[in-house]
Amino acid sequence: MTQPVIGFIGLGIMGRPMAGHLLRAGYPLIVHDVNRQTVAAVAAAGGREAFSPQEVAAASDVIITMLPDSPDVEAVALGPAGLIEGVRPGTLYADMSTIAPTVAVKVARTLAEKGVRCLDAPVSGGEVGAINATLSIMVGGSQADFEAMLPIFEKLGKTITLCGANGAGQIVKACNQIQVALNIVGMAEALVLGAKAGVDPAIIHKVLSGGYAQSRVADVRGPKVIQGDFKPGFKARFHFKDLNIILKTGNDYGVPLPVTSLVHELFAALLVAGKGELDHTAVITVLETLAGVEARAASGEQRA
Ligand code: NAD
Repeated sequence: MTQPVIGFIGLGIMGRPMAGHLLRAGYPLIVHDVNRQTVAAVAAAGGREAFSPQEVAAASDVIITMLPDSPDVEAVALGPAGLIEGVRPGTLYADMSTIAPTVAVKVARTLAEKGVRCLDAPVSGGEVGAINATLSIMVGGSQADFEAMLPIFEKLGKTITLCGANGAGQIVKACNQIQVALNIVGMAEALVLGAKAGVDPAIIHKVLSGGYAQSRVADVRGPKVIQGDFKPGFKARFHFKDLNIILKTGNDYGVPLPVTSLVHELFAALLVAGKGELDHTAVITVLETLAGVEARAASGEQRA
């Protein structure tokens, strides 16, 4: 059976390794990004370069986007030289970016008028999940479109769940981002308190990792945080974007989110400090400034 041609737009921290998995799985791939260097790199690995979303759409049976934010997805999908100007009826389109649920629904409805079968399919698992193809993919759309896309999603992730109609994937992603942000800030407050009280943060990390306080956030990022390594990963400005989406969604549905609001302000302070390009765990530096202490491991080595 011939493989469908996949168009992939947005080849950043997440998109590039994801596109690589699809290439290695044997799918013909046509790729686009405003950053031409990254397009050239994926093309060198076997993809075909395109110069607009319209060109991608005209050549693809399936389209995936992995873009920063709602306005980027709206522009790529519905804007001039966008997907809408090149798509054919029956095309499957999965937007895997994290965007506002309302925008996901708008894009899906507008493209549906052209016969496009749309899914919102944001992911969790971070850069590591993208590289290892172990992402958790939360999907909004119809059962039939979900099943049609499943073989492709299975090349990218491990936990792949249809959450409901269009927009439901983005709702679940908003829930995910609440829990991740609160986890990060919980870890950060614990490390800062312990450090100011004179205990080595490496010891705190080790002890907490072996008990009820253990978390994926602490497992994956804790060792880097206590070394002061904030290379992204997941950029702080993206988590701030997600917190804005979450608060707006809370407002839309009449759900007060008091703790998320507070964490939103900590991320706002991080961005004001010019640290939006760092990993989201750099939010600890805001708490460190408040406390007047740095929560770094005493030795240069990371303890087991
Ligand atoms: P990134 O900034 O590394 O990559 C985004 C890419 O999109 C860049 O290469 C950029 O040049 C390209 N781009 C931007 N506007 C474009 C346009 N109009 N047309 C074509 N290309 C365009 O971001 P990322 O970390 O890969 O994140 C992508 C999405 O995935 C975001 O919505 C983010 O919230 C989400 N996400 C990221 C992570 C993570 O750990 N990095 C985890 C889960 C979800």
